[in-house]
Amino acid sequence: MTEPGIPDLSEAEARGELARLAMEIAYHDRLYHQNDAPEIADADYDALRRRNAAIEARFPALVRSDSPTNRVGGAAEAGFAKLRHKVPMLSLDNAFDATEFAAFCDRARRFLGLTAPLVFVAEPKIDGLSIGLTYENGVFVRGATRGDGTEGEDVTANLRTMGAAVPQRLEGDAPASIEIRGEVFMTKADFLALNAAQAAAEQKLFANPRNAAAGGLRQLDPRITASRRLSLFAYAMGDSSEPVAETHFGYLDRLRGWGFAVNPLSRRLDSETQAAAFQDQIGAQRSSLPYDIDGVVYKIDDLALQRRLGFVGRAPRWAIAWKFPAEQATTVLRDIRIQVGRTGALTPVAELEPINVGGVLVARATLHNEDEIARKGLRIGDTVVVQRAGDVIPQIVEVVTDKPRGEVAYVYPDVCPACGSHAVRPPNEVVRRCTGGLICPAQRVERLIHFVSRNAFDIDGLGEKTIQEFYAEGWLHGPADLFRLPEREADIAVRKDWGKLSARNLSKAIHARRTIALERFIFALGIRRIGESNAKLLARHYTNYANWRAQMVAAKIVGSDERLTLGSILGIGPTIAEELADFFAEDRNVAIVDALAAELTIEDAAAAEVADSPVAGKTVVFTGTLETMTRQEAKARAESLGAKVTDSVSKKTDIVVVGADAGSKARKAAELGIETLTEAAWRARIGDPEAAPPT
Ligand SMILES: [Zn+2]
Repeated sequence: MTEPGIPDLSEAEARGELARLAMEIAYHDRLYHQNDAPEIADADYDALRRRNAAIEARFPALVRSDSPTNRVGGAAEAGFAKLRHKVPMLSLDNAFDATEFAAFCDRARRFLGLTAPLVFVAEPKIDGLSIGLTYENGVFVRGATRGDGTEGEDVTANLRTMGAAVPQRLEGDAPASIEIRGEVFMTKADFLALNAAQAAAEQKLFANPRNAAAGGLRQLDPRITASRRLSLFAYAMGDSSEPVAETHFGYLDRLRGWGFAVNPLSRRLDSETQAAAFQDQIGAQRSSLPYDIDGVVYKIDDLALQRRLGFVGRAPRWAIAWKFPAEQATTVLRDIRIQVGRTGALTPVAELEPINVGGVLVARATLHNEDEIARKGLRIGDTVVVQRAGDVIPQIVEVVTDKPRGEVAYVYPDVCPACGSHAVRPPNEVVRRCTGGLICPAQRVERLIHFVSRNAFDIDGLGEKTIQEFYAEGWLHGPADLFRLPEREADIAVRKDWGKLSARNLSKAIHARRTIALERFIFALGIRRIGESNAKLLARHYTNYANWRAQMVAAKIVGSDERLTLGSILGIGPTIAEELADFFAEDRNVAIVDALAAELTIEDAAAAEVADSPVAGKTVVFTGTLETMTRQEAKARAESLGAKVTDSVSKKTDIVVVGADAGSKARKAAELGIETLTEAAWRARIGDPEAAPPT
């Protein structure tokens, strides 16, 4: 990426860029602090902030009121009570090399008018979540996240689940009131164990220990926090009712005395000249430490000097975080492989010439999605910079443009590499998906499990585990094969945990489902966005299988009358119509549907509905002005459910549906003690979805 150098910027360009940076940094702050889901590496984020600060330094008149320089992190999230910090909880300025660290020392010395060397305390910078813990008379009373630096989230209940890491009572003498600050984090081992458990439970994986710790602490249910193994190092002071130490190093001793864990690698350095050696020493230990760190924090030890130095903007003048360089290396992009997830999502993965990055051999890197490939302009054969920045999954930073480039730009596939079905990307979505759900080997097991699930075919004795086993045997290529399982009854009977009786019962259960309601059939196909209620709407609209199939196949043609009709069914809408049309545009999906239908008797929607209709055989009267349907529509719908609709109320009437401005009929119903329903109650009774509000 080539951006204009800051000295070359015109004032107009600088103003524009500051506006863009403010927006972009705020966006990443939100992802990081509120969603615990950063999109960019910390080093890239730091680069944005540094560019912003550099432009502000060159054009001080253009500093915006919402400048990121004056903000820390994101606002507190809804769901937690907010707690105001008595002393703002700010963040640190960063240094990235010895020159920047020396400049920081010079600034501090000039400010103080000192010539003597500065004494520092150096502490590894843990990659976690900053929190403040308030103790009154030695007892833990509340704790908050940093939030925006002024106001954080009240996570007291969650902090109480952290055992000895957050002492409930301070040992020994303590001030009447003190706020102790520290970092909640997750060790690498606990992180890996958590992700293994998440994977086993098919839950989402955390990108790195920091996200896992933040996600663990910011749970609305403290029981979830308790189940995550969180650790804490204490390292700073907020408000205190009385002085507790003369130096920061002395304060760390007090923290240990009160029962807190303090990072054992923290050291007092007699002079700033020792910092570079300490930085190297910790850097060398970094990969073998049990937790992630991203640098070393240097704080001026003398608390009186700290008070004199104070703050500038969002950061103290007496401390700086000297960050480690991101662990990067250069290698060749050998290929881009597309993985297909169990839900059909296509995800690109970079295959690299294996390379050692900070002690770890890296052969793959994440590419997130197709836009990222385009944004980075990746070509197979390019030399690329690969980075591990505390993150577990390596990333590609950029293409090295002065090395020989790959021949052709990478073209993202529009067919699924696992099954050859077309892969589509709906407007406004970043993920491209395979449309061949039932034929795609990557998705097949998942689809079969859905197919037999309770609200679909609901076949007794065919659970997830059995589907997986039979699939592994090669017995299930598609859903139609389920109905051929009875032919294998003898083979099933001799399997472990089966036996003749269970195999017989399975065959019976399968036969019992050869007759199926149209809506269950549609739902079982697992077409994206076609859940139970949409399946019901479709079944009701098209009434029988043959009609539905014909209309769907016709609707695959963009702009066809059938597609327009489909999109206008109340509750379906154009987006869902697209998904259906995409499904039927794949001929092999149609073949699967046909193969299934050949095995089954699919009941007409009306027949099935009447059978379990709550109003079948009832006599119903509509009166007054109906708001969500015409009188004619209401009558047709009631009759389709087996009800008899009459105009006048008599003793034979079972239900009177009362619209607006109802007159004598409503009164008569009341006199005769006949059940009356509002229009909404009627809809609820017959299981119709809420009508869209009038526009
Ligand atoms: Zn596929």
